[in-house]
Amino acid sequence: MEEHKQLCRFCGNILTHTVVDLGMSPLCESFVPEDKLDEMEPFYPLHVKVCRECYLVQLGQYVSPTDIFSEYAYFSSFSDSWLQHASDYADMIVERFGLDAASFVVELASNDGYLLKNFVAKNIPCLGVEPAVNVAKVADQIGVPTLVEFFGVKTAQQMKADGRSADLIIGNNVLAQVPDLNDFVEGMKILLKPEGVVSIEFPHLMCLMERCEYDTIYHEHFCYFSWLTVERVFAAHGLRLFDVEELSTHGGSLRIYACHENAAGKTTSRRAVELLERELAAGFGRMETYADFDEKVKESKRALLSFLIQARREGKTVVGYGAPGKGNTLLNYCGIRKDFLDFTVDRSPYKHGKALPGTHIPIYPVEKIDEVCPDYVLILPWNLKEEIMKQMTHIRSWGGKFVIPIPTTTVID
Ligand SMILES: [Zn+2]
Repeated sequence: MEEHKQLCRFCGNILTHTVVDLGMSPLCESFVPEDKLDEMEPFYPLHVKVCRECYLVQLGQYVSPTDIFSEYAYFSSFSDSWLQHASDYADMIVERFGLDAASFVVELASNDGYLLKNFVAKNIPCLGVEPAVNVAKVADQIGVPTLVEFFGVKTAQQMKADGRSADLIIGNNVLAQVPDLNDFVEGMKILLKPEGVVSIEFPHLMCLMERCEYDTIYHEHFCYFSWLTVERVFAAHGLRLFDVEELSTHGGSLRIYACHENAAGKTTSRRAVELLERELAAGFGRMETYADFDEKVKESKRALLSFLIQARREGKTVVGYGAPGKGNTLLNYCGIRKDFLDFTVDRSPYKHGKALPGTHIPIYPVEKIDEVCPDYVLILPWNLKEEIMKQMTHIRSWGGKFVIPIPTTTVID
């Protein structure tokens, strides 16, 4: 923001290579209330670059983290499959690392407590660290102790000084959102007990690029990681990755496990070795691979616009389902407003009566779809498409069809 030349968030090298340029976009969680519809809206560049030294794919910092996260509209608890994912994770990790009432679990960016409540139920002491005041308040109300802070070296030192080191540090879908990556990873190093484990989930860059999931790029996501790069980042802070799981969440994620570099008994797993080999074979250690992405994204946009233009010319109604961050990147990049999409619906009451940022498409409760009986429902959170198609299967009674925009536009009869 202050600095014109963009530097790599990890190694400090000057960024010169574009991965994809999605133009100007508003902050994707800045839903617009009705009385603000006629006001100016800030737009920021959504220009993704890759560092030629460390291959970290990243956005420049155009907007301060305080602007993004102090009033954050994303409540994790509004997705059934995400809640299930959280509860399964808690069962697995408690079993695998033998956590009990003598352990201490810290979750970074603990949101509304949707994950830690599973640890509370198991009587395992835990603490959430969450910068968004409104979301943290909800967590406190359901009995999940929450510290309202941005996590980093300072917070970690404070916690350690208070005698609160962690047996398990969880960070699900936060690593990408950290403005100061080195400070965050160093904080984990400080907070972790000698034999403790860090467990982090983030969208996998290889999935994003191979499946053309360009809409998962937004200002809140500063970094996009391959195993190759994340291993380098952690190693620079004395943390060693020893295992990985590949998950289907968020269009394809990694769950990595890290420990102190000299921790005993944690040998590198076969699947970790195998993943690194696969990434190298797919070209993630070569600049050319990153350069090919931009054209792929443009073609995905053309396919969606072709579909919408034809549907509208035929007089068909098209509405959206969901108001996720990724939907806002997609709609703003493709230039889709009320001219193509009459409205969208969402299960979160927080968004009702508001409009999508930039495109100003209105957001209604889900029932609105039953009133209107549209010909097509464009599923914006396509990562939840199975769940949504099951919930909304009745649109078929009037001949309604689902449309999935990513990797390329697909109509599902
Ligand atoms: Zn770099």
